[in-house]
Amino acid sequence: MRIVRNFEEILNQAPAVNLLRSALKKNRIAHAYLFTGPKGVGKETTAKAFIYHLFCHINNDAPCGECLSCKKLDKEIHPDVVRISPEKRDIRIDTVREIERFIRFRPLEAAYKVIIIQQAEKLNPEAGNALLKSLEEPPSYVIFILITENPTQLLPTILSRSQIVKFRPLSEKTIKDFLIKYAQYDEVMAQTLAELSLGSLGRALEIAEKG
Ligand SMILES: [Zn+2]
Repeated sequence: MRIVRNFEEILNQAPAVNLLRSALKKNRIAHAYLFTGPKGVGKETTAKAFIYHLFCHINNDAPCGECLSCKKLDKEIHPDVVRISPEKRDIRIDTVREIERFIRFRPLEAAYKVIIIQQAEKLNPEAGNALLKSLEEPPSYVIFILITENPTQLLPTILSRSQIVKFRPLSEKTIKDFLIKYAQYDEVMAQTLAELSLGSLGRALEIAEKG
């Protein structure tokens, strides 16, 4: 699998990437980000890259891929990152309690502890309200990255506590080029998939897998 560590490699999402780069540069990182946009356009990839930029020991502008921190992120074993996703249909209070325990103590190796919540719209009301408490008074070292395709399904109070980072559909050309370069499709097939993708690389790859 292609590992994306550097914002440079994020396709077609300049506004989102610029916002995060600027936060890094000014050292003004928000405690909660909400990454919103269609599926398969790079929200999760960008969240992961953001963590490399935050955590790399050698170069925060261009993560090195060599340091211990980058290596642990590659293997998804960094102790200061957790990724949450719905277990079955929703994200429940037990999971939010685990997050609370995770953020209670300072980071072990990095300057921050990062919690990625995928499909954040699946937080059930009880869990959402509990999470809100952590969002309201987070320890200084905590960064939440909530990812969703459906921001309107989140509690308005969660939205208002988060910095919104918008992701847009990818261009057909971006998707076509990616499929040729990284998935070894020929020109014709890549073009067809790109046209069917509605701007979502994720969807293009899904269609491709179905043959
Ligand atoms: Zn590094």
